[in-house]
Amino acid sequence: MSKPRDRLRIAVQKSGRLSEASQDLLARCGLKFRQSRDKLFCFGEALPIDLLLVRDDDIPGLIGQGVCELGIVGRNVAQEQALDPARAEPPFVEVRELGFGRCRLAIAVADEDSYAGPQDLGGKRIATSYPHLLGDWLRRQHVAAEIVVLNGSVEIAPRLGTADLICDLVSSGATLAANQLREVASILDSQAVLIGARQDYADERAELRELLLRRIDGVIRVRESKLLLLQADPSRLASVLAALPKGDPATVGALDRPAGRLSVQVVCHEAIGWAHLEELKRAGATQLLVLPVEKMLT
Ligand code: ATP
Ligand code: ZN
Repeated sequence: MSKPRDRLRIAVQKSGRLSEASQDLLARCGLKFRQSRDKLFCFGEALPIDLLLVRDDDIPGLIGQGVCELGIVGRNVAQEQALDPARAEPPFVEVRELGFGRCRLAIAVADEDSYAGPQDLGGKRIATSYPHLLGDWLRRQHVAAEIVVLNGSVEIAPRLGTADLICDLVSSGATLAANQLREVASILDSQAVLIGARQDYADERAELRELLLRRIDGVIRVRESKLLLLQADPSRLASVLAALPKGDPATVGALDRPAGRLSVQVVCHEAIGWAHLEELKRAGATQLLVLPVEKMLT
């Protein structure tokens, strides 16, 4: 049992691909920290929620040790550590998908090498920083290959001759192309995730965690949400409502001028393109307006 605490700690990557989006998410949740960016510990001023700035690989372990309650890491990091056979049960769980830092853990072969399927990997040397995820995938494919663990510059291993092919994170594919490699299979779809301790808290942290999760949910929903406003004649209302994008139920009200005309508003949770607006217009909508949503609490 850890000691009772009345403040919550969340760990995010100090500097790297996830840092800015992680801190931006927390700022949108209304958190403010007293800090200079290079410090490890940042004191929460708006709420009793403090921030730890660390290397992403350390975050699952910090949660395991009870140093912090929540953390933001790539799913690749969380799952790699969860699969570590040295650990009985991972002390953390994935709490939310955060929708940024998208990438995939992929197998890539040299441009000139052929690949017909996982069976072609038998007996090959595969360089990766994710031995547990790769090992798990190979076992599920019933393929025996040699895993060469590298902590960086995985993509040059085939050219150096230290491996035949690689298993590494890919987003655009530009790094692979620059190294004359070609992606042939994806073994994990990744994005930034919020991870948290398995345990429930009997102190203030329970409520703080719930509060932060509610705000994060609000921020995530708002990101894709738009408020759609339009007008329609009552005779066209049914066709306009049928053409609305998926969203919350529409609010229909009467305009004072011209009498009888209706105003419709709806919060939509998907992108609304020009083609969709034109379809709504054909269905009888006029005065169409699409507005960004700034905050949401449901
Ligand atoms: P640290 O110094 O904190 O250990 P790092 O070098 O391990 O940093 P970054 O390269 O900053 O990590 O990547 C952090 C995370 O960003 C990855 O674990 C992954 O989830 C995500 N990511 C998104 N796109 C890519 C990509 N193209 N290559 C690598 N990681 C990516
Ligand atoms: Zn790292």
